[in-house]
Amino acid sequence: MSFDDDDDGMLLNFATDSGDAGESAQNRGKITGGTWKDRRKAKLLQDGRKPRPRGEKRSLESGSAPTFEELQSETSDSPSEPKRSRFDGGSQPVKEEQPRVVQPVQLNAQIVSSLFTSSRNIDTVTNSNAHDEKAEVTYSNAPLVGDTFESFGITDAMVTHLKDKMKIDKPTKIQKLVIPPFLESKNDLFIHAQTGSGKTLAFLLPIFQSILTLGQNVSRQSGCFGLIVTPTRELANQIYQVTSELAQCCHFLVPCLLIGGERKKSEKARLRKGANFIIGTPGRVLDHLQNTKVIKEQLAPSLRYVVLDEGDKLMELGFEETLKEILNIIHSIDIDTHQFPKLPKRILHVLCSATVKGNVTKLGNVTLENYKLISSGKKQTETTTVPDQLIQRIVIVPPKLRLVTLAGSLTTLTQKHYKRAKSEVTRTIVFLTCSDSVDFHYEAFSSHDGNHRGLVGETARLLTKGNTVLPCFNDTDDPNVVCYKLHGSLSQQVRTATLKHFATNNDATKGRHLILFCTDVASRGLDLPHVSTVIEMDPPFAVEDHLHRIGRTARAGSEGESLLFLLPGEEEGYLDYIKPYHPKGWQLLTYDEQVLRPAFEGLNVKRTDKRKEDWDKYEAQAWDNNATTWHLNVERRVIDDSHFKELAVKGYMSHIRAYATHLSAEKKFFNLKCLHLGHLAKSFALRERPKSMGLQQGKAGAAASASQKKSKEDSKSKMLRMARMAMKQSNDEFNFA
Ligand code: AMP
Repeated sequence: MSFDDDDDGMLLNFATDSGDAGESAQNRGKITGGTWKDRRKAKLLQDGRKPRPRGEKRSLESGSAPTFEELQSETSDSPSEPKRSRFDGGSQPVKEEQPRVVQPVQLNAQIVSSLFTSSRNIDTVTNSNAHDEKAEVTYSNAPLVGDTFESFGITDAMVTHLKDKMKIDKPTKIQKLVIPPFLESKNDLFIHAQTGSGKTLAFLLPIFQSILTLGQNVSRQSGCFGLIVTPTRELANQIYQVTSELAQCCHFLVPCLLIGGERKKSEKARLRKGANFIIGTPGRVLDHLQNTKVIKEQLAPSLRYVVLDEGDKLMELGFEETLKEILNIIHSIDIDTHQFPKLPKRILHVLCSATVKGNVTKLGNVTLENYKLISSGKKQTETTTVPDQLIQRIVIVPPKLRLVTLAGSLTTLTQKHYKRAKSEVTRTIVFLTCSDSVDFHYEAFSSHDGNHRGLVGETARLLTKGNTVLPCFNDTDDPNVVCYKLHGSLSQQVRTATLKHFATNNDATKGRHLILFCTDVASRGLDLPHVSTVIEMDPPFAVEDHLHRIGRTARAGSEGESLLFLLPGEEEGYLDYIKPYHPKGWQLLTYDEQVLRPAFEGLNVKRTDKRKEDWDKYEAQAWDNNATTWHLNVERRVIDDSHFKELAVKGYMSHIRAYATHLSAEKKFFNLKCLHLGHLAKSFALRERPKSMGLQQGKAGAAASASQKKSKEDSKSKMLRMARMAMKQSNDEFNFA
């Protein structure tokens, strides 16, 4: 179904006991030729029905719901068409075995499409990269037992501080590879390392070491020795925290953070007081270099180390020009080599990146001179792989079951959390492609009693005791789950408060399962303690982000799990594409038997709906009925709560726009034309596509529809327009400055 299709083309996919409707349509033969609209009109006439006049919308939410027969015939008009291939298992045949079919539900004169269809058992690819469960687990990013920091010449005070205050005893592989050549200061360095491998200390420790061994008195007024540029504010903040922690063993050294979203005036004041390390995002650093006189005075005598962290992301976000300007200004400053004679005679550049391919090599050529490539992989140019100890799971989920499958996964994780020690904190991160989708999912899984909304502000809401609507709990249970959200459209204060609360172990988080719904703004470099699971509900825009998202778990030798959702059909091709990054393989799960059944079986999902008689058809306790009940509860909430409905509509629309912006090399797996929009709407708890409900997304949607009325846009330009909008949204996400 193309994005341009009118509503009439939507399949509502009702499950029926008999399949009669399908049979009769099949027997009547297929109409061919003409456009799909012509064929549909002809089909309706053949069925003895009048085509609906243009403009007459049917809304399932309004009282004028269609009859079940009407809808059945609407769904039955193309039973043998290849629609199925887009959402029920690609072009592969449906299995012979037909599972028990859940009846469609009629609520208050509404017909609600069933979650589970008669073709529930989809055929998907077989696992060609199975994880060997018996293989010995290696911890590829763990500290090395046989080495010490002392052997690299790190000062005793620093080693003691690392051990006593930071609980860091032995170097990791990348630290062992980077620290000695960094201290030699002969070459620029290009560091290529696995996620969570200790990269930050690998470049910070040698800078500290060279300052501490100057043999001269140093204070915050001595000037800035190191400039560290990162693509996101969160990452900058984190590196700032690590630098501050290291500086606790040498209080005279002071770091300074320069990021967008903070007051420039107070940053200027801090620069004026003096800073030995400047850590910031490209836009804000350049802004100060161009407009704040004191920053150049800080850099002139002492700057010797420039680190560009997450180089691939810097390039991806289009910072090339900004970085060139930063480097031009820095190189134009006269470095005073006499003031600190033991420091290198020139500025050393260090570029860190998870990949050494594509744009980042271009950045390397611009930034680095005569560089040395240091890779933690076995071969120097090897692809970075996910940590060996990570357990990767992949589940192929039909579009309409995405939300409930996420609910199932989170329920299982929460149940697992309960089995652990009472005081432990469990952290799960759910990655989505856009802020609107994050807002929807956060709201869908948070308590919806409406007590906090709007009254006490988003931050305060975060800090109140969380509640959730995970299916495994009754009203009286305290699920001890706290939901958080993080994306670039939130204010910097909320972003900082959210991360701080999510990452801290204290009374507010003790014994709780913390779930963070976020965009890729959280995928880079963030070091959040003990994240046990990463769920990629939406596959990332580029495969590098897949590595970075997963990299939030299984860090520094700890265990971790990751779950990737893919749609049946074209998206299954993505498995072969990511295979090189997963040398240890993965487990391919079935969404029904291995995710939904264990989560929903034997539960008594509470119904939020009062019309009990409508539900009598349901067999108590069957897992698929429980799953359906939970989903219907969310759907009903969309109907009852206009705020939630708006989130669902926006989430759905933005999700589709974002889908069009996958990297061109990966577009073959993520083809907008292959999406079943009606089914996807269901996973945003919408019973129809918003367009069918006559809903548009705010002003932009209204403007778009008005302009469409004037001149019908062809599908190519519509796709491009949507891709541009999604790109803009994704750039806004990072708020670089
Ligand atoms: P990074 O890759 O720099 O983000 O670091 C990932 C995590 O590893 C952080 O939590 C660090 O505190 C931790 N870490 C870094 N170096 C070591 C080490 N040598 N031993 C144990 N943990 C480390």
